[in-house]
Amino acid sequence: MRSTCCLASLLVLPGFAQTPTEANPFFTEWKTPFGTPPFAEIKEDHFLPAFRSGMARQKAAIKAIVESKEAPNFANTIEAYDRSGAALEPVGMVFGALSGAETNPRLQAINRELAPLQAKHRDDISLDEKLWSRVKVVWENRAKEKLDPEQLRLLENRFKSFVRSGANLSAEQKTRMRAVNEELSKLGVQFGDLLLKATKDYRMVVDKAEDLKGLPENQKAAAAQAAKKAGLEGKWLFTLDGPSIWPFLQFAENRSLRQGLLSAYLDRCQAGETDTKPTVARIAALRVEKAKLLGYPTWADFVLEENMAKDPGGVYGLLKPVWKGALAKAKVEREEIRALMAKELPGAKLESWDWRFYQDKVRAAKYDLDEEALKPYFSLDKVREGAFHVATRLYGITFSERKDIPVYHPEVRVFEVKEKDGRHLGLLYTDYHPRPGKRGGAWCGSLRPAREGHKITPLTTNVCNFTRPSGDQPALLTPDETRTLFHEFGHALNNLFYMGQYRGGGRAQDYVELPSQIMENWAMEPEVLKDYARHYKTGESIPAVLAAKIKQSRTFGEGFATTEYMAAALLDMDWHTLTEPKVVDVNAFEKASLDKWGLIPEIPSRYRTPFFNHIFGGGSGYSAGYYSYIWSAVLDSDAFLAFKEKGNLFDPATSAAFRKLLEKGQTEEPAAIYRAFRGRDPKVDALLEKRGLK
Ligand SMILES: [Zn+2]
Repeated sequence: MRSTCCLASLLVLPGFAQTPTEANPFFTEWKTPFGTPPFAEIKEDHFLPAFRSGMARQKAAIKAIVESKEAPNFANTIEAYDRSGAALEPVGMVFGALSGAETNPRLQAINRELAPLQAKHRDDISLDEKLWSRVKVVWENRAKEKLDPEQLRLLENRFKSFVRSGANLSAEQKTRMRAVNEELSKLGVQFGDLLLKATKDYRMVVDKAEDLKGLPENQKAAAAQAAKKAGLEGKWLFTLDGPSIWPFLQFAENRSLRQGLLSAYLDRCQAGETDTKPTVARIAALRVEKAKLLGYPTWADFVLEENMAKDPGGVYGLLKPVWKGALAKAKVEREEIRALMAKELPGAKLESWDWRFYQDKVRAAKYDLDEEALKPYFSLDKVREGAFHVATRLYGITFSERKDIPVYHPEVRVFEVKEKDGRHLGLLYTDYHPRPGKRGGAWCGSLRPAREGHKITPLTTNVCNFTRPSGDQPALLTPDETRTLFHEFGHALNNLFYMGQYRGGGRAQDYVELPSQIMENWAMEPEVLKDYARHYKTGESIPAVLAAKIKQSRTFGEGFATTEYMAAALLDMDWHTLTEPKVVDVNAFEKASLDKWGLIPEIPSRYRTPFFNHIFGGGSGYSAGYYSYIWSAVLDSDAFLAFKEKGNLFDPATSAAFRKLLEKGQTEEPAAIYRAFRGRDPKVDALLEKRGLK
C-alpha cells in the first residue's frame, strides 16, 4: 500500500467524423507482432482524427442498435453496445499510455481539446433515450434469457451505468448534467497540467559538496548527472521526483535543505500560475451538484455504491480502527525519534522534515539495519526477475524478452508471457525510470485488454519512477521501490490472466488493489529474497542475517507510513462527503479535516489537497476511493494468509484458486469471487497483525 499506484483508467470515448487519412495508422490493421501499436508510425496529428472517426463509428453502431426492428435482447443490444467502441479502443489506449508516460505540450494541448469532446460523446450515449429504453427492456426481461453470470453482471452494469449517468432525469436536468460533466472533464485535465508544471518547474541546486553530507554516493552521482544535463556541471540538482526527494529527506544531514525541499513538495500548487485551489474547490462543488442531481446525498455515496464498501459508513467503519492503531503507533515512533534527537541535536524540536532522517537512524540503532547496505542486493533487473520468478513458481508462466516489439521510448522493454505449455498469454511492457514527460508515481496500464475468453490477448504496461542507473552502477532499488515493482506486476498479472468475454467488467475500486498488493507480500519473504536479492557485482545471495533483519524490522515505521496514507484517505472522504455544492476555502477545509482526525503535525498527509492527483486529476478515478488501498490491504493480507496457513508460500492448490480469482476480474461480485477463493469473508486481523497495529 506504500506504493500508491493508479490503474490507468481506460477512456471510454467520443464527436465528429473527419475524412480518414490513409497514412493514419489508426485506420489500418497493425502488421506488427501480436498486433501491437506501431509506435514509430504514430504521429501526434493522428490522434484527433482517429478519435473523431472512432466516435463517429460508435455513434453509427449505436444508431444501428436503436433502429433495429428486432425486439431488444442481450445479443442485439448489450453485446452490440459492448462492441460499439471497438474503433476507439486502440487510439484511446495508445493516447492514454503516452499521456501518462511520455507526454509533451502538443499531447497536452490535444488532451485539452479532446476531454470535452469525450465528455460530450459519453453523454450523447448515456443520455440516448432510445438506447436506454432498449437496455431497460433487456434488464426487465433478464430472467427470460439464459444468461450466464458474466452476462448478467454486464447487463446489470450497463443498466446501472445508464441510471447513474442520468437516464432517468428530466430533459432540463439532463442539460445541466451535460454541462457539469463537460466542466468537470476540463477541470480534471487542467488540474493535471498545473500539477505537472509545478512539479517539473521546481529544482533545488546545491553548489557546495558539504551540503550533501550523509547522502549515499549513488544519490550524489544521480544529482550531479541531473545537474550536468541541465547545464549546471559541477553542481547537484534535486527535484520533486520520488527518486530525488525521498532519499534526500532520509539521508541529508543539512536540516535547512531538507526543510526547503519538503516545503517545496508540500506547498506545490498553492500560489501563482500553478495554483490549483480554485480548480479543486470548483471540482468538489460540481461533484456535490452532480450527486444530488442523481439523488445521492454526497459524491461519496454516488461513488461507493459500486464498491465493496457500499457507502461512506462502510468506509469510515473500516478506516477508524486502522487509524486509531496507526496513530497510536506513530506516537510511539515519535517518542523514539525525539529521544534520539535529544541526544544528537539537543534542544531541537522534531519537525516533519526530520522524521525520515531520524527514523532511519532509529532503525539502524534498533535493528542494526542500514537500508543503503541492502541496496546492492536490489538491482532493478534482479528485482524484476524475482517478481517474474514468483509468478513462475505460483502459476508456471514464463517470461522472455522480445526485441521486435515497437515501443514508445527506448527505455521501454517488452516481455512475452507464456503458459507452462508454451501458449502465448500476452505481453508486458516495462518502463521504469522518471523522465520529464512522465507523471509521478507508478501505475499499470493497458494497450489492449484481454477478452473473448483470451482469444484477444492482452498488452499490459508497468510504468514507474525508479532510481536510475548511475555511472557504472545499475539501478539499485529501495525497499519501497522493490515493493512497488512487485505491486504493479501484480496488476499486470491480473490483466494477463483475465478470461472474461467482454470489455465491460465491474469497477469496484476497493477490490482492484488486491491482485497488486498481495504480490508485495512475497517480495520481502526471506525464502523469496534468498532467490532474487543477489549482489549486483558478485551475484551472491543476500546474507541470511540481513534477510532475517528485514523480516524482524518489517513493522518498523508502519505507524508513520500508515498514518500519512490514512490522513490522505480520510481527507479524500471528507472532501467527498460535502453535502452542499458551494465553493469552500481549500486550505481551511483541509486543516479542519485533519485537525478533526487528530493528525500530529510532524506527519503531513501524504497528499495535500492542491496536489492530490488521485482524487482531483483528470481520469484518476480515486475520488472517494483513496481508502481503497487499505481496503484492499485487508483483502491481500487475509488472502496471503491462505498461503501461510498451508505452510507453503507457493502451495499449488491455493495458487490455482488465486489464479481463478484473477481470471475472473470483476465479472462477478467481488465479494462472491473472494468468498469462492477463501471460503469465507475477509477478516481485518491479518492486516493489523502484519503492520503491528494491534
Ligand atoms: Zn495499484
